Amino acid sequence: MTDFCSKRVSETARNFIEAERRFGAHTYHPLDVVVARGQGVWLEDVDGRRYLDCISAYSALNQGHCHPRIREALIAQADRVSLTSRALYNDQLGPLLEKLVAYCGAEMALLVNTGGEAVETAIKLVRRWGYRVKGIPKDRARIVVAANNFHGRSTTAISASSVPQYRADFGPFTPGFDLVPFGDFGALEAVFGPETCAFMIEPIQGEGGVHVPPAGYLEAAAALCRARNVLFVAEEVQTGFGRTGDRFAVDHHGIVPDLFVVGKALGGGYYPVAGVLGSRALLKLFGPGDHGSTFGGNPLACAVASASLDVIVEERLAERARERGAQIISALRAIGSPLIREVRGRGLLIGVELTTPARPVAEALLNEGIVAKETHDLVLRIAPPCVIEPGEAALIAPALERALARAAEGAR
Ligand code: PLP
Repeated sequence: MTDFCSKRVSETARNFIEAERRFGAHTYHPLDVVVARGQGVWLEDVDGRRYLDCISAYSALNQGHCHPRIREALIAQADRVSLTSRALYNDQLGPLLEKLVAYCGAEMALLVNTGGEAVETAIKLVRRWGYRVKGIPKDRARIVVAANNFHGRSTTAISASSVPQYRADFGPFTPGFDLVPFGDFGALEAVFGPETCAFMIEPIQGEGGVHVPPAGYLEAAAALCRARNVLFVAEEVQTGFGRTGDRFAVDHHGIVPDLFVVGKALGGGYYPVAGVLGSRALLKLFGPGDHGSTFGGNPLACAVASASLDVIVEERLAERARERGAQIISALRAIGSPLIREVRGRGLLIGVELTTPARPVAEALLNEGIVAKETHDLVLRIAPPCVIEPGEAALIAPALERALARAAEGAR
């Protein structure tokens, strides 16, 4: 067995890591932490070391780990009924849908399991709208997406990607996507044609390196969509449910999208729940047998999602993310390190772009009791659960300052 672990890893932890590496495909590059427990913003590893979680399972844990209210809903529902399939009605789906559409300001929703599936659902729906409502000739519909996007790992999602690694040797690809540079309104205007059915955009690119669009861009894009009869699809799988300091990231721009794509935090860290939401006219373009999922909208998922939404609203997660995000961003900007090129983000979706690879800095942060992950090469993403308290948020910048100093020493 090659020695792939850092020196800090105990024998116990090493055994778990070895099992994952020996029997699991190596599709991730995890940090050397073997988590045994989580509570709120804190993780504990198999050796009893504690870490402040600044990854939040890529924004799926806005409510924090093992939120008692969501846990209670999960257990109560698990004792009643967990899965019915959509061959039957169940007593959880209807009430959850009503709550979810009210939260989103939509009229109808369709539930699936993962963000990737929700993106697929959105793609099918906007194409159908393109043919049946806009009158685009058969099989000609085009969807405009932004370069550097992340919409999931399916063959269709990677067909819409500009990132070479996501696509390498996975072709042939699904046609029908037009890529434009993120934030470039002129390019958007130029690419829209009579066969364009939708513009799908992450209002802040998370995986792409926490890129916030230039001022006015999304507003202008939404107006252009309206003028050209193109659907505006807010892909808020990562940015939704309070993460960026508002209900959705498009709320910062006063935009009401034609379709929301949601996932991650809707499952409260307990269960995969995702979906699309929009107008009745749009969602009604799907009829029985047109689309589906065995697990989508199952009673356990709905009970969890319902409690997750309650926590988001009643614990004011968006407002707290806005306040704590501002606190963390200003503390990070005050770090006087030449290794920091830029600190950007909104709410608790924060990117620290470095002048040096972010991975060694993430590894140095482990010794400071913080887990944070690089995204792409140079960006460290800081995205703690939205329940983080001011005192906990205050730990992050000083820890990063020390980790940067250590990384700089290591590089010398
Ligand atoms: N869309 C965005 C913006 C995401 O960030 C992700 C996951 O990181 C996805 C889609 C895919 O979601 P999932 O991993 O649940 O399929």
